[in-house]
Amino acid sequence: MRPSRRLERIPPYLFAELERKIAAKREAGVDVISLGIGDPDRPTPALVVEAMQEAVTEPETHRYPSNRGRADFREAVSDFYERRFDVDLDPATEVMATIGGKECIFHLNSAFLDPDDLALAADPGYPVYTAGPLLVGAQPHLLPLVPELGFVPDLDAIPADALARAKLMFLNYPNNPTGAIAPPGFFERVVELAREHDVLVVHDNSYSEITFDGYHAPSFLATPGAKDVGVEVFSLSKGYNMTGWRCAAIVGNAAAIEQYWRLKSNVDSGNFEAVQLAGIAALSPDSDAEVASMRELYRRRRDLVCGALAEIGVQVHPPKATIYVWAPVPAGFESSAAYCEHVLDRAGVVLSPGGAYGPNGEGFFRISLTTPDQRLVEAVERLGALAR
Ligand SMILES: *Cc1c(COP(=O)(O)O)cnc(C)c1O
Repeated sequence: MRPSRRLERIPPYLFAELERKIAAKREAGVDVISLGIGDPDRPTPALVVEAMQEAVTEPETHRYPSNRGRADFREAVSDFYERRFDVDLDPATEVMATIGGKECIFHLNSAFLDPDDLALAADPGYPVYTAGPLLVGAQPHLLPLVPELGFVPDLDAIPADALARAKLMFLNYPNNPTGAIAPPGFFERVVELAREHDVLVVHDNSYSEITFDGYHAPSFLATPGAKDVGVEVFSLSKGYNMTGWRCAAIVGNAAAIEQYWRLKSNVDSGNFEAVQLAGIAALSPDSDAEVASMRELYRRRRDLVCGALAEIGVQVHPPKATIYVWAPVPAGFESSAAYCEHVLDRAGVVLSPGGAYGPNGEGFFRISLTTPDQRLVEAVERLGALAR
């Protein structure tokens, strides 16, 4: 049995590989601490779980949902965007439910790319920005994110022929894996570029609610003109500890969302309505305190990790957002993967190698803050013991 050429073009999903390695170590009796996957360790807020418990007893939620999502879910997303980002969205045409951000990002590739088209994709970046184009037979064109430019792409450096062929541009701030935030003026320049070259901007907003030190992340759609050229994918996974629930929304340009819906209605049958009702609870002001306490938890862990790294001679700028610390690989290792293998083998600590997120991730590794404080400290101590 031979898989499709499209499937053969993509490397195995990073975390699928990691999970296999971790399982093998644990089987061998090693006390593995995983700082690999970004998957919140804290439970989903109680008010969300209770909304789900109630919703699941209602027989109306048991049937096929509408593919666009329930009207009250779309209204809740619209109200949230107004309250939180000062962005006005028409729940009828500018909001749609998605089965998590990943589904949406992948399907946008199917909806908009033909074989000769390009998708502009941040490097390093969330793997679906590059696997998505490849899986639909198109190509990613990488936009390097480097520390000198604050991990924001140099829009003036994109070659003219790439801009001519590009139909999508994937951006993500606050950023996974680098923890970077969008500097003032950046989204404005993105809107200009997208308008000039007729590129649909897909802003992946997975981390806007996890910010520190007084920083509040904006929505891309708060940028003047953004709705003319782009959509935003807002996932509840990270900000509300809901990764398993598969609850997100696509918002913004109505024509783009309509094309996404055309595609999606041929592929899946929407989000379980009980999950949407739980999503409404998550997006209500009632969960603000819970979200604030998560911010405080990650800030504390960020400071623990950055402090412990400094003690072993690894200097990092504490990120203003996200659940990640992006740190340079110590001298003496030929690649980020070699360092991470060494650390797993010798210290039983799982790190994500930067190179797995793209060529410009090489030389870095990512620590996820989704592990209890004590285990985080122990993990960094083990790294320190290795370094000595
Ligand atoms: C975690 C993550 C996602 C996936 O979100 P789901 O809604 O759980 O599919 C998408 N984009 C980025 C950048 C992420 O870090």
